[in-house]
Amino acid sequence: MGTEIEERKYVRLPTFLEQGFSDLKREVVDKSICSLCGTCVAFCDKIRLDMGEGNNEVGVPEFGEDYDTVCGLCYTFCPRTFLPVSEIERRILGAESAEEDVLGIYKSCYAVRSKKADIKGQDGGAVTSLLAYALEEGMIDSAVITASDNQWKPIIKVAKNYEELKEGAGTKYTLYPSVVGVKEAMEEGCAAIGFVGLPCQIQGLRKVQTAEQPYDVGKEKIKLLVGLFCMENFTADLLEFIAKKYVKLENVKKVDIKGKEFLVSDDEGKVHAIPLEEIKDYIGEGCSVCMDYTAELADISVGSVGSEGGWSTVFVRTERGEEVVKGAIEKGYIEVNGIEDKGLGLIRRLGTKKKKANKI
Ligand SMILES: Cc1cc2nc3c(=O)[nH]c(=O)nc-3n(C[C@H](O)[C@H](O)[C@H](O)COP(=O)(O)OP(=O)(O)OC[C@H]3O[C@@H](n4cnc5c(N)ncnc54)[C@H](O)[C@@H]3O)c2cc1C
Repeated sequence: MGTEIEERKYVRLPTFLEQGFSDLKREVVDKSICSLCGTCVAFCDKIRLDMGEGNNEVGVPEFGEDYDTVCGLCYTFCPRTFLPVSEIERRILGAESAEEDVLGIYKSCYAVRSKKADIKGQDGGAVTSLLAYALEEGMIDSAVITASDNQWKPIIKVAKNYEELKEGAGTKYTLYPSVVGVKEAMEEGCAAIGFVGLPCQIQGLRKVQTAEQPYDVGKEKIKLLVGLFCMENFTADLLEFIAKKYVKLENVKKVDIKGKEFLVSDDEGKVHAIPLEEIKDYIGEGCSVCMDYTAELADISVGSVGSEGGWSTVFVRTERGEEVVKGAIEKGYIEVNGIEDKGLGLIRRLGTKKKKANKI
């Protein structure tokens, strides 16, 4: 099954109940291609994962019992076992993209900036503003976001109002199983859940939504998926490295990647520019097989590349996504501009670079 995540035309999907956790362990965990997205843990009570309490690295999924029930849920939902991109695209996005396409299917794209003065986003604050609109209009009753503590360690949060949503703003370049937050939202009784996360996490949740399976996992409660562009993510060791060599983490105000540098801005206004080459060993091993740069399966995808500083690049992919973006414009949550061909060209170049590198 090793190369099947590369295949867009999947011939035969494994039948539910055919594979269990031992297959997932052999094909994904032992091959170090687990992305730590959290989907298996979110939907199966038998799987455990060390969430990195006490500043440790997040652990890989482990089976919590001494036998392997072949229920197939973890195997079926994992984005790294098999990924029927064309099937998901047909069912969710209404069309299929070409294999070499890196922008994916989309209805429209914009440069977006928040019109809410108190939203301090990573780029244009588009993600937080769009979720705020969806939440305040009742399209979702909660949004699973990834906030952080004062040491930049990610924290999952089920945001139910505007103030809580704002805590998620900003990029955390640390691998974290944010999909576990969907389970938390369901346990809290949420019935219309929004989620923001990385391409692997969106893939996992789309598999949950489209898998024909015999279990009631509450998939109908997942209403809106906002995906982030992603070239790669890093292990928590990177934070330790930054703290030792550059600046104390409690003094870090923002982290970003621009060109070939990882930029760490501190509270005195100094920007520590770390060459990406210097931190390449901290890139998550599971990122090495990901072919998705622009979160091609999301309702709305958001990144920084393609727009000017202070604006987010937004691809609207589904009707639901369109409803959110159009409504957010009308109600004054965001303002939009067009994306220039130069910007789209840059996104294509980076997406193609990722696909080529990871196909190898
Ligand atoms: C690991 C990572 C790699 C990225 N790589 C690229 C890239 O190569 N090119 C590019 O153009 N853009 C990339 N982005 C996206 C970019 O950094 C911004 O997140 C995006 O432009 C949205 O900005 P915003 O101001 O609209 O979002 P904001 O309003 O600031 O909201 C950001 C949202 O991101 C979520 N979030 C933050 N960190 C994580 C995380 N680790 N896991 C899951 N969710 C998280 C928060 O919950 C929050 O809701 C990356 C993001 C991440 C997390």
